[in-house]
Amino acid sequence: MYQSLLSDARFYTLLLAFDRDLADAARSAGCALCSGVVHSAHYWRKPRGRGCAVGPEHDQRFSFCCAVDGCRSRATPPSLRFLGRKVYLATIVVLVSMMQHGVTEPRMRQLTEAVGVDRRTVMRWRLWWREDFTASAFWQMARAAFMPPVEQNRLPAALIERFRGEGAEQLMALLRFIAPITGGMAHAR
Ligand SMILES: [Zn+2]
Repeated sequence: MYQSLLSDARFYTLLLAFDRDLADAARSAGCALCSGVVHSAHYWRKPRGRGCAVGPEHDQRFSFCCAVDGCRSRATPPSLRFLGRKVYLATIVVLVSMMQHGVTEPRMRQLTEAVGVDRRTVMRWRLWWREDFTASAFWQMARAAFMPPVEQNRLPAALIERFRGEGAEQLMALLRFIAPITGGMAHAR
């Protein structure tokens, strides 16, 4: 089910549309530090893991830079495509990590091979979910909304199960949910 999703261009178009909305919101909000006007300072990424060809616009990470001299702070809005600095698409990081739980080993091997993720990367992602994600201020706040509590050692599978729908719908819901941790702000200098 997920494998067909990875080769569906409409899925990536939907993710891009969400990212454009998030970027528009960030642009109209202006600079978080000085309320100044922000300019586009998008950058190019080379995300891995797509199962089909898409246009170059899909590789653009939306980002903004404050136009005010002396501030110039950069802000990168949340994204449903890019998870921080991870090279693989957020979708892949979620799906492959999820395959660790409740899915048979051959099935997981199939997906990781199709996507081209090596075992060490998968291990690193598992650790990221278990340690970095659970320790994040975002999750410390957000987890309170789930009752019964989400089993943290079964992330992200234990989390995606909490969203309604199935397949793509649940995945999109999860990506939207974790979007706040995907962006960031940094001073240009
Ligand atoms: Zn500013």
